[in-house]
Amino acid sequence: MAAVALPDWLEPQALINGNWVPARDGSCFAVVNPATQQVIAQVAECGAGETAAAIGAASNAQADWARRPAKDQALLLRRWFDLVMAHQEPLAQLLTLEQGKPLAEARGEIAYGASYIEWFAEEAKRIYGDTIPAPGADKRIITLKQPVGVVACITPWNFPNAMLARKIAPALAAGCTVVCKPANETPLSAFALAHLAQQAGIPDGVINVLCGKTEEIGRALTSSTEVRKLTFTGSTRVGKLLAADCAATMKRTTMELGGNAPFIVFADADIDAAVAGAVASKYRNAGQTCICANRILVEDEIYDEFAAKLTHQAEAFVLGHGSDEQVTMGPLIHQGAAAKVADLLSDAVAQGARLKHGCGPSELGSGFVEPGVLIDVTPQMRITQEEIFGPVAPLLRFSSEAEAIDLANATQAGLAAYFYTADAARMVRVAEALEYGIVGINEGIVSNEMAPFGGIKESGNGREGSRYGLDDYLEIKYLCIGGIGSA
Ligand code: NAP
Repeated sequence: MAAVALPDWLEPQALINGNWVPARDGSCFAVVNPATQQVIAQVAECGAGETAAAIGAASNAQADWARRPAKDQALLLRRWFDLVMAHQEPLAQLLTLEQGKPLAEARGEIAYGASYIEWFAEEAKRIYGDTIPAPGADKRIITLKQPVGVVACITPWNFPNAMLARKIAPALAAGCTVVCKPANETPLSAFALAHLAQQAGIPDGVINVLCGKTEEIGRALTSSTEVRKLTFTGSTRVGKLLAADCAATMKRTTMELGGNAPFIVFADADIDAAVAGAVASKYRNAGQTCICANRILVEDEIYDEFAAKLTHQAEAFVLGHGSDEQVTMGPLIHQGAAAKVADLLSDAVAQGARLKHGCGPSELGSGFVEPGVLIDVTPQMRITQEEIFGPVAPLLRFSSEAEAIDLANATQAGLAAYFYTADAARMVRVAEALEYGIVGINEGIVSNEMAPFGGIKESGNGREGSRYGLDDYLEIKYLCIGGIGSA
């Protein structure tokens, strides 16, 4: 397998006001290939000072950007989309290099991220206000939708391109400017996206990107009175900390946090379709997605058949370096992630769960975990209560619809849930009863730019994508026009 070089146009520095700059004190940190542990770049390690400069740049650029006709904003976003798609291959290679996912998945992520840019390029032209009947004959009521202002975007490592595109595109479409802090594990994909936005002609200061001293940057963003909104994708733990910090300045927040998705298979379901859905939901990105099936609940009568068929599929994965075209599953993001999976497994096995296949460490290296299936899992085990974020499918049993719903809802998470059934009435009943923001019915792949993505309960608030995705970046201003009288 040939080593992939960084594109020569990629600058691993901070983007502030249109300039790629090093950290003020010259410090850098290493970004590592999770498959090989080799250092692939030294990145500017920024802190509070650089963040203040980025906020200043975004603040200065905001009024001009907001004043641009929606058609101009849309055109620039569209050009950005075109450039991203024209660079799909190098962007995918870069993504695999820093994140580890197989190239086919990385290509898919680039197209998925770009689809949000395309969608919001279109939606930029459809930000409508209202006229509202007034209570008196000499009054009129009009509402305007105006940009929130400067938006801070903090994103995780599991989808280094798409999670950022999903935030920047609606922010810009609404007339906002952004300061972005991508995950320190995977900043290169963010820099590449920002570089292409510059090439597209998006003005200086509209998009700023930096990373480095995480808590310092976070504090500078949350405490700033110029930053009017924080949109965060990441863990529930960090989301709660940041939301609390945002309260001091009453910032608006969008919180896309952790999940604990139930995947329910009723005995009347098409079992092969359910297995295919479970594979797609569970093992994508080596199990490191917020909407991954975290608990697979299978009705008693079909439990053994489902377990056997899922195991057969798990055995078919080819674990390895994502940049090898044959590979269908890469490493976890780092050794700590693999250690967490091992810890959850040993807790489950100590309480009576059995490994049907895989789940263990691989000879490929300490970040690799064999995709696997765990049976005889019970709700008391930690593996059903915490996000696994690894390629382990825990199978629980249930014997009635009511029990399945109770098990599914027994968590503080509320992002995605899935169920498979052939019974139309049950589809309605169960979909209504599940306490989740997203429900896949006879479908394991639920995320796309046309649909509202987001959770309830401790999985956060706000929605990304769809026509609702702009609302989070807009304020409603009400104009009350009086003294109109009659001619
Ligand atoms: P994380 O530890 O919460 O980190 C996410 C981002 O927050 C990273 O950029 C991280 O920076 C930053 N961060 C951490 N502590 C911070 C602080 N005190 N101040 C400011 N920024 C801070 O989460 P992760 O482990 O990277 O990502 C996995 C989590 O994301 C999972 O829980 C997953 O479910 C969730 N997720 C949710 C969605 C969704 O749409 N709901 C989508 C994808 C992922 P550093 O990298 O520098 O630490």
